[in-house]
Amino acid sequence: MISFICITCGTQFPPSSSPPAHCLICEDERQYIGVNGQEWTSREEMISSNKYKNKIIEEEPNIYSIVPEPSFGIGQRALLIQTPNGNILWDCVSYLDQQTIQYIKEKLGGLSAIAISHPHYYTAMIEWSQEFGNIPVYIHQLDKQSVMRPDKCIEFWNGDTLDLLNGELKLVCTGGHFKGFQVLYWPRRQILFSGDQPQICMDQKQVSFMYSYPNFIPLNARKINHIMKCLQPLDFDRLYASCKMSGIKGVIETKAKEIVEKSAKRYLKAISDDNDD
Ligand SMILES: [Zn+2]
Ligand SMILES: [Zn+2]
Repeated sequence: MISFICITCGTQFPPSSSPPAHCLICEDERQYIGVNGQEWTSREEMISSNKYKNKIIEEEPNIYSIVPEPSFGIGQRALLIQTPNGNILWDCVSYLDQQTIQYIKEKLGGLSAIAISHPHYYTAMIEWSQEFGNIPVYIHQLDKQSVMRPDKCIEFWNGDTLDLLNGELKLVCTGGHFKGFQVLYWPRRQILFSGDQPQICMDQKQVSFMYSYPNFIPLNARKINHIMKCLQPLDFDRLYASCKMSGIKGVIETKAKEIVEKSAKRYLKAISDDNDD
């Protein structure tokens, strides 16, 4: 039995003797099937190919990027956040080998929990949980139907916010890109981890919001306003996105809240019926 991984989006499926007939994440209108058609691999195949490794980079004290190299799936990166109440993996990647597990356990202090912004980052979350002692994976209930590999380690939660690690971190459900889309807020450090909504633009000084990034489908004004209402109470200065586009750090170093507000206003103006530009 093999837990197949979709090559295009990086999602892992439950163990089966032959590859699944479809990848529902790729067939969703927010994603796409690769030009070569549906293709599968597995963790075992990725490891034995000797083609991949996870690069672990310290972004700032207590925050580490974990990025498969060469880039895999949609170019996901995970962020490991060290707090006095335990470490959390924010978002996830498809690749996981012994070297990564050992490094995280021995050098970074292991993992206490996993939380994932939305289905494009579920990737190999179940195996990450299992390798670190069946730790909980926090996902919003509204995205339950997009979990391709169900498991008892997943903690579905309901409502607008959820405190993690004794209040050290907070999940905030903003909806938008996905109904259960959640961001992670770290009040002690005034940092927002946004997954891909808002997504950081090429100059790292603007952000944007999309229903589908690869298919260029925007969000409507009601959804943008709701996202902004959810972010408004959070006092953040820095913002980390989870998709590290080539050559870009994926971080807004300072004044992130101001930038998000300005970018949202610009977005609303662009999609307004009154806009004649
Ligand atoms: Zn897929
Ligand atoms: Zn996405």
